Amino acid sequence: MTHPHCHAGDPVATLDTPALVVDLDALERNIATLAAFARERKLRLRPHAKMHKSAAVARLQLQAGAVGLCVQKTSEAEALAAAGIDDLYISNEVIDPAKLARVAALARRVKLAIAVDSLLGVQRLAAALRAAGSTVDVFVEIDVGQGRCGVAPEQAGALAAALRAAGLRFAGLQAYQGKAQHLRSPAERTAAIEQAAAAVRTALASLERLGLSCPLVTGAGTGSFVHEAASGLWGELQCGSYAFMDRDYADNERDADAPRFEQALFIKSQVISRGAEHAVLDAGHKSHAIDSGLPRVWRHEWSVQNGGDEHCILRGAGLPPLGETVWLVPGHCDPTVNLHAQLVAVRGGLERGVVEAVWPVDARGCVS
Ligand code: PLP
Ligand code: MN
Repeated sequence: MTHPHCHAGDPVATLDTPALVVDLDALERNIATLAAFARERKLRLRPHAKMHKSAAVARLQLQAGAVGLCVQKTSEAEALAAAGIDDLYISNEVIDPAKLARVAALARRVKLAIAVDSLLGVQRLAAALRAAGSTVDVFVEIDVGQGRCGVAPEQAGALAAALRAAGLRFAGLQAYQGKAQHLRSPAERTAAIEQAAAAVRTALASLERLGLSCPLVTGAGTGSFVHEAASGLWGELQCGSYAFMDRDYADNERDADAPRFEQALFIKSQVISRGAEHAVLDAGHKSHAIDSGLPRVWRHEWSVQNGGDEHCILRGAGLPPLGETVWLVPGHCDPTVNLHAQLVAVRGGLERGVVEAVWPVDARGCVS
């Protein structure tokens, strides 16, 4: 049994708390906005499902023109494939042979792609695919400045050549700069993606020296995609958070020419205790992730203090009385969604809206 108990048609006012609520009108506008941005620039859009982990949201993105979905983990791909999503890209490295056997098995059922950044990864992937008799698109990940996964850009050609020699299909470059996404000012993000673009050019030159063409450069997130798009180098965008948004992204200073995304993800909570100068909510960090900082109260100036696993403490003027509903904007959308079994999709606004659908978080807990 999932919690909170609710059904399509229920007024939002009766929804038990804490609940993870999606404002459907805002979600649909966000999805349409990025789809239009990509369409106008003739870029492919492959939104990242690590954020929502939900086939229902993936389907809305596909209906709006997305070419498929990204995932970060093998089990995430399996969960979304089981829920009917049939074009998936694991934008991450898998090195374990048993897991690669699962990747190869999944590739028999859906269109699948994966990233590599090592010769061992290439060899093991090739062996797994041979054993299963399946194929995948393989992207060579380059490190564009984050210092996480990816080969040095000048090594991209050699790894692409090696993967072709192993009988794999070279699909292009994975070039994602995670550290750029929450740099607060447009100037800082511009500089970070200029550096990433220089790395991509170096990688393209290393491919060219070996006579290899690059079918696609894929990457970009909600904080930086206008810069990847403007570079003329990237052909596919992988933004994830744009669909729901969070407090951390709201705190970014927006680029002048960037589309505006609305907050679509909320925690509905309730005041369960009052002091003379504080109000206590029934939602703590078991209902919203705090790795990127505390949530913010929607449409109120009250300050939020960490109250532990199950509580938040509000302070400020005109605090809400016992029993009052308070809407929180989570600090970080991806790990917040992963805490919940379901997303309650609401039509017609948070105050007077109605539950239109209850979506399972299909890939909840799929971190392997
Ligand atoms: N692509 C990759 C490889 C990622 O790791 C992420 C997020 O961490 C994204 C795309 C999406 O980024 P965002 O949710 O900031 O739009
Ligand atoms: Mn994130």
